[in-house]
Amino acid sequence: MVTITSSQLRPLLLSSLVIACLFYLYAFPPNWSSGSTKSAHVDQSASSAEQLVVVSDPHPNLPDPSLPPAWHNTTRANAAFVILTRNKELDDVRWTMRQLEARFNHKFNYPYVFLNDEPFTEEFKELTRGMTSAKIEYGIIPHGHWSYPEWIDVDKATALREQMGREGVIYGDNLSYRHMCRFESGFFFRHPLMLDYDYYWRVEPSVDFYCDIDYDPFLYMKENNMKYGWTISLFEYESTVRTLWPTVKNFMKEYPELIPENNLIDFVTNDGGDTYNMCHFWSNFEIADLNWLRGPAYLRYFEYLDRAGGFFYERWGDAPVHSIAAAIFLNKTEVHFFDDIGYRHNPFTHCPTRRELQKKCHCNADDNFDYSAYSCMRRWEEVTRD
Ligand code: GDP
Ligand code: MN
Repeated sequence: MVTITSSQLRPLLLSSLVIACLFYLYAFPPNWSSGSTKSAHVDQSASSAEQLVVVSDPHPNLPDPSLPPAWHNTTRANAAFVILTRNKELDDVRWTMRQLEARFNHKFNYPYVFLNDEPFTEEFKELTRGMTSAKIEYGIIPHGHWSYPEWIDVDKATALREQMGREGVIYGDNLSYRHMCRFESGFFFRHPLMLDYDYYWRVEPSVDFYCDIDYDPFLYMKENNMKYGWTISLFEYESTVRTLWPTVKNFMKEYPELIPENNLIDFVTNDGGDTYNMCHFWSNFEIADLNWLRGPAYLRYFEYLDRAGGFFYERWGDAPVHSIAAAIFLNKTEVHFFDDIGYRHNPFTHCPTRRELQKKCHCNADDNFDYSAYSCMRRWEEVTRD
């Protein structure tokens, strides 16, 4: 007969208790996240296709650490970086690609489209390919997209350009700059290489990207039905756009059916549409919807402006042209301020100031341009306030 003393019984009881607990945990696993407002919550009542993910802190660049990183999801938007540049800017392009890859694209692997009014050199191709494992395409701009249209009086354009130069207007006497602004206003999105894509991220040589971007801004735009995204807004030089707003007003009068009621026009005017307040999104950074630019409203708008001649007789920039289009054609939910994308194009910087976002960046939040005198951020906040 086996006799068990009380001192032998205690470890036996303890181990049975542990086994019972383990069995209970196995049979009825606890929901550790229930009741936690910080974690993601999946709405079980929705069908799997429309499961609603509610995160208490909804900033897309502060993903829930308990979920897999966004780039593990293999879904991508149909999107590309687009870089208009010259061969001589190779080193500046590489500088920028280095940061873009490190901060975002080595995780997401979006392709690049390089465009130029001249052929890219083999050196340019080889040394840009070295910066990324993503696909790169190199395109030449068709002559008609980088030349005077037939209705422009070239002598008049030349005289006005020289006069602007004498007046000291920045790029005042620069013809290629005007071709560039016209191309970026009306043609880049119709370049054959761009027709494959739905969204673009415009990048320029020598700009800086300061922050980790841990989500996909293209998908974010797509899923939220956004058409235009920006990160710096500021005032335009009035001398370059004197007749732009009167031309836009005529356009709106002729095509009222293209102008929705709840648009963002107050971002670009302080007097209900009478005059332009010079506010614009700085178009050297843009993440936007190519199909919006290729759509009938924008195309009609661009053609109207192009006929008016201000790309050559004045020096209309693609930034005010895009921005006014966003303001008259879109509503506030369709235009997005990428506050989390730390960015610099000389001489202005956008650097996130919210601490959790700033932690992902190497810019100095004291350099943030948003509330300086030349910024249009205050106007943006006024017009988008609920
Ligand atoms: P800014 O930003 O207004 O001072 O003008 P940039 O000189 O940066 O030009 C804007 C963009 O157009 C940059 O990506 C330039 O590389 C590009 N760009 C400007 N002029 C030309 C040009 O004559 N040819 C080509 N291929 N690209 C140009
Ligand atoms: Mn530039």
